[in-house]
Amino acid sequence: MNFHVLTLFPDMVMQGLDTSILRRALDRGLIRIEAVNIRDYTDNKHGKVDDYTYGGGAGLLMQAQPVYDAWKSVQDRLPSKARVVYMTPQGAVFNQDMAAEFSAEEDLIFLCGHYEGIDERVLEEIVTDEVSIGDYVLTGGELPAMVMIDSISRLIPGVLHNGESAGTDSFQNGLLEYPQYSRPESWHGKNVPGVLLSGDHAKVGEWRLAQSLERTKERRPDLYEAYVKAHPPQERKRRVKRTNPS
Ligand code: SAM
Repeated sequence: MNFHVLTLFPDMVMQGLDTSILRRALDRGLIRIEAVNIRDYTDNKHGKVDDYTYGGGAGLLMQAQPVYDAWKSVQDRLPSKARVVYMTPQGAVFNQDMAAEFSAEEDLIFLCGHYEGIDERVLEEIVTDEVSIGDYVLTGGELPAMVMIDSISRLIPGVLHNGESAGTDSFQNGLLEYPQYSRPESWHGKNVPGVLLSGDHAKVGEWRLAQSLERTKERRPDLYEAYVKAHPPQERKRRVKRTNPS
C-alpha cells in the first residue's frame, strides 16, 4: 500500500513513522510512505503558501494553487484516481471500521492543513474524504495523518508478525479487548486469573468474551448496546467457539 502525504512539514511525517512495526513494514516493502512538500509547488517566488483570509479574521490560510499542484504531481504518477483524505476537525471521526475500509486501497493521498486550514475551493476540487481524529483542534494535519497511517498499516496482511493480533484488538469485533497478563504468574501480590493457566481453551475463550463484555459495558456503554443488539445470546455462544485459541 502506498501512502502519499501532502504537507508543509515532510520531516515530521517521515521521522514520526519510521520506527518499530512501521519501519519493519517499510523495510519489507509492505507499505510505502512519501511526504510531498507543498511548498515545493508554490508559484510564489518567495516560497509563500499562505495568505490572509477574505472577509477578515485572524490567521493565515493555505492557498489553493500550491495544494492543487502538489496533489497533481502525485496523482499524475498513479495508475488510477486515488482517494484524497483531508485531515480536518470538521470531518467524520476516524474509527476502526474506517481503518479497515482504507486498508483495501492501493494508494491513499493525505492532505494536511496548517494555520487556519486550506482554501475551500481546492478542497472542493480534490478531496474525496474529510476525516477528523477527534473533537479537538490541533495545529496541523500531520499528526492526524500519522495516526491514520499507523492504524491502517497494521491491518495490512503481513505488517503484524502474528496475524491474530489485530483480530482480537479492541473494536475489531465491536468490543474492547479483555485484560491480558504475562510472566510472572504473581506480581505485587496480584495473581494471573487461574483460568488462563488451565490450558482449557474453551474456558479461556468464554472468560475472555465475558471480560470483554463486562469491560465494554462499563467503559463504552455505546459500543456495548450496539454489540448486544447485533448479537443475540445464542450467537454470542457460537462466537466463543469460533474465537477459541486451539
Ligand atoms: N480553522 C479550522 C477549523 O476551525 O475547522 C481548524 C484549522 S487547524 C488549526 C489546522 C489544520 O490542522 C487543519 O486544516 C487540519 O488539517 C488539522 N487538524 C486540526 N485538528 C484536527 C483534527 N481533530 N482532526 C484532523 N485534522 C485536524
